[in-house]
Amino acid sequence: MRIDILTVVPELLESPLGHSIVQRAKNKGLVEIHIHDIREYGKGNYHQVDDYSYGGDAGMILMIEPIYTLINKLKQEREYDEIIYMSPDGKTLDQPIANRLSCMENIMILCGHYKGIDHRIREHLITSEISIGDYVLSGGELAAAVVCDAVIRLIPGAISDETSALSDCFQDNLLSAPVYTRPANFNGWEVPKVLLSGNPKLIAQWQEEQSLERTARLRPDLLKKE
Ligand code: SAH
Repeated sequence: MRIDILTVVPELLESPLGHSIVQRAKNKGLVEIHIHDIREYGKGNYHQVDDYSYGGDAGMILMIEPIYTLINKLKQEREYDEIIYMSPDGKTLDQPIANRLSCMENIMILCGHYKGIDHRIREHLITSEISIGDYVLSGGELAAAVVCDAVIRLIPGAISDETSALSDCFQDNLLSAPVYTRPANFNGWEVPKVLLSGNPKLIAQWQEEQSLERTARLRPDLLKKE
């Protein structure tokens, strides 16, 4: 899988995408992430990428030309399954979206900044828009990093124990069961006995019960989903 990210602040993406499971997936050759600085395509000596908005609202808008040039250049090099714009009014990221993206070959992610981007980019170049929640960030970079993390950990081989991604929350519209590690007794706080029983059937049954109970209590809305 290849992910191209377009941004005016590349520095914001380096650390979130340079460690842990994401970095290991890159090392294993499971994913390539290419970060493109929109400023390199900016206008004039100053590499201008933003301008005042028509209508006089406060705040700067990312201009159409630099983004258009960069997207076109990339599209000439390969076909993209999706060209995504990170936006608070996009579809809210959830596990099914992450699952779908993880099966794709090439995706492009455009990060907005300031007051947003010239709307014509969204109308003519973008194929889908994703939000990471109902709040406004300063830029799309952290949101893009969230999408990348959620997607990359699903690529087979990214997590050493492949089944562990499937037992995570939301994969069956259920929250996951609580997890514990040694010691079995800390300050008198005990690990549930069944987990020490060594009986896989009983353990699986307990985990399922816990999943259902926690979902019904904490996220009853999930049980109503398809
Ligand atoms: N004026 C815009 C917000 C601009 S915030 C509005 O009211 O909709 C600047 C950039 O941050 C946006 O262009 C977008 O790329 C990104 N962004 C902000 N909040 C986000 C969210 N919840 N999810 C994804 N991207 C977000």
